[in-house]
Amino acid sequence: MNYMDMTMTIQELAQPYTDPDAIKLSHYFLDNGKLLGVCEFYTEDGLRYATIRIAGKVARTEVLIKGVLWHEICHAIPWIESGHTDGHSSAFQRRLWSRPRYALLSLFAEFWFGLLDAFN
Ligand SMILES: [Zn+2]
Repeated sequence: MNYMDMTMTIQELAQPYTDPDAIKLSHYFLDNGKLLGVCEFYTEDGLRYATIRIAGKVARTEVLIKGVLWHEICHAIPWIESGHTDGHSSAFQRRLWSRPRYALLSLFAEFWFGLLDAFN
């Protein structure tokens, strides 16, 4: 899955919830620590945006990419909509599980890389 496909996936997943153009995918992979993805929030010309970065190890597998992207999109939505972030709160969990298939992929990615780390 290349950068263009990942950007299109973000657009598709975010579309029903918020302005998908406000969510950008970084060209740079995240390659330190145990994080599989991050969502960074910023404001430009009075408009709110979010940038998503995913770990290089995630980027190798399409199903994991989709799971991690959806997780990060769920962080971006409240910021873009209201200027607030809600961490991994119950509101976040409800948003995440509004697409159960992708929520499961997100959990699977965490589980899988947690397992790999445990054996390294
Ligand atoms: Zn998170």
